[in-house]
Amino acid sequence: MLKINEIYLSIQGESSWAGLPCVFIRLTYCNLRCTYCDTEYAFYEGYDSQIDEIIETVKKYRCPLVEVTGGEPLVQKESLKLMEQLCDEGFEVLLETGGSLPIDEVDERVNIILDMKCPTSGMIKKNLYQNLDLLKKTDEVKFVIGSREDYDWAKNLINEFNLTQKCSILFSVVFGKLKPIELTEWIISDNLRVRFQLQMHKYIWDPAKKGV
Ligand code: SF4
Repeated sequence: MLKINEIYLSIQGESSWAGLPCVFIRLTYCNLRCTYCDTEYAFYEGYDSQIDEIIETVKKYRCPLVEVTGGEPLVQKESLKLMEQLCDEGFEVLLETGGSLPIDEVDERVNIILDMKCPTSGMIKKNLYQNLDLLKKTDEVKFVIGSREDYDWAKNLINEFNLTQKCSILFSVVFGKLKPIELTEWIISDNLRVRFQLQMHKYIWDPAKKGV
């Protein structure tokens, strides 16, 4: 049994899969409290559902790409089984995780989008750096950047863990806090091998809208 906050079809907004239709399974609960969190409604709200029921709901959307997100999906251990079964069913599965819980038991077929928390998030002490040694080529590390301090911190971490050799790296801004042009200029000036991205869904719909 899993506690589900919402399941919906939308456009993948922030990763190398950005722009593709994607079914989102948002799980309830999060062990973090980032300063800029835009999904606080997923901290407690939700309904209980069996894995088979979740997969039946997902199939109705007839979309091959599925993202398991939150909150923090890995808070609920059964999310591991959900992802495994989604892979068995032939879906391309993405996992968006906040980087504070171990990814070692996640099915190898899952593409992990690992969010490393920068200083602005207020959650930097929760980062589980051992996860960086477990990344596969198909995984991605995401940095949500709200200041120059965040940018420099991310740059140092990339060097320290040789991340550009391991997987793709995503840089985005804290929406409404740092201007996209500032971040892009820093990236260009340093010729940094990272992918700049906007949270696409926030420009298509009202940034406060749920279920997009
Ligand atoms: S990890 Fe995600 S859901 Fe949890 S508090 Fe941070 S931004 Fe919100």
